[in-house]
Amino acid sequence: MIDPFGRHVSYLRVSVTDRCDFRCVYCMSEHMTFLPKKDLLTLEELDRVCSAFVRKGVRKLRITGGEPLVRKNVIWLFKALGRHLEDGTLDELTLTTNGSLLHRLSGDLYACGVRRINVSLDTLSPTKFKAITRWGDLDTVINGITAAERAGLKVKINAVALKGVNDDEVDDLIRFAHGRGADLTLIETMPMGDIEGDRTDQYVPLSQVRADLLERWTLKDIPYSTGGPARYVEIAETGGRLGFITPMTHNFCESCNRVRLTCTGTLFMCLGQDDAADLRGPLRASADDQQLESAIDEAIGRKPKGHDFIIDRGSQSPAVARHMSVTGG
Ligand code: SAM
Ligand code: SF4
Repeated sequence: MIDPFGRHVSYLRVSVTDRCDFRCVYCMSEHMTFLPKKDLLTLEELDRVCSAFVRKGVRKLRITGGEPLVRKNVIWLFKALGRHLEDGTLDELTLTTNGSLLHRLSGDLYACGVRRINVSLDTLSPTKFKAITRWGDLDTVINGITAAERAGLKVKINAVALKGVNDDEVDDLIRFAHGRGADLTLIETMPMGDIEGDRTDQYVPLSQVRADLLERWTLKDIPYSTGGPARYVEIAETGGRLGFITPMTHNFCESCNRVRLTCTGTLFMCLGQDDAADLRGPLRASADDQQLESAIDEAIGRKPKGHDFIIDRGSQSPAVARHMSVTGG
């Protein structure tokens, strides 16, 4: 699949639920209204849409949410999608999770062919963790990470940089991740969805974090890529990798290879734009996948050039109204 700007679309992120067992302050408000269950694609339907994308050339699938592991019976979907790994039509099946259920599900994920996962962890302080996630428990997540590593999964830690909250903890996060052989990626907060607060209070440009790190660590740019938007450095002192995802300070749209499917079958061609294509209609219109595949082609044909996120005091409303938990990270 090639979009109007010549970019190959080979990566699909799929949000399998908008629900979550945490309420992270930058992602959700405490009192969220979730979609009625009847609006969701069934697991069989999610498998059908993902498989259509694989036939069309998608080589990497990331399952996300909301919290993907809270979706009932989600391992069934991993198992179903794992068949594309076995026949060689898919290179990677992966997952972004808050880690709260990894202590139970890591073994099953490995058995389905998952080999690498991203775990979101913004702080190593139990009190800050509670303050950021509102409902989460740090020990459960750290035990989950350990269980995942024991099961054979390669873990990458993702942390959203939050001004005055964890920007003084980056050194500790580096030591924590690299000390266990995991990569660490820092993410800038993006203006997505109403969150009961002002995002200018949370936003810290990663250019600033990087400049600060240079005072204590030796960072070397490296060409490493996992097919996502992160740019990596190697830290000489630890030998580990640190990634920066900088949607705000460095627009990475020119190399975008991704599209995103919501749990209701809406395809967003860009995380930061409202234009979307409904795939649920064509999916349900017939048992064969012809209409679905035409709808996918039509949607890729209007993938926009890029996002236009801004965070400043003048723009109080979010750039896109939907929450990150709808489109998936
Ligand atoms: N629940 C899972 C998790 O937390 O990893 C998967 C979904 S979550 C929406 C995916 C990623 O998006 C997480 O790493 C989270 O920190 C990040 N995220 C959520 N809201 C964000 C925002 N407004 N700006 C930047 N990253 C955000
Ligand atoms: Fe849930 Fe992930 Fe959003 Fe936190 S970032 S509220 S864990 S979906």
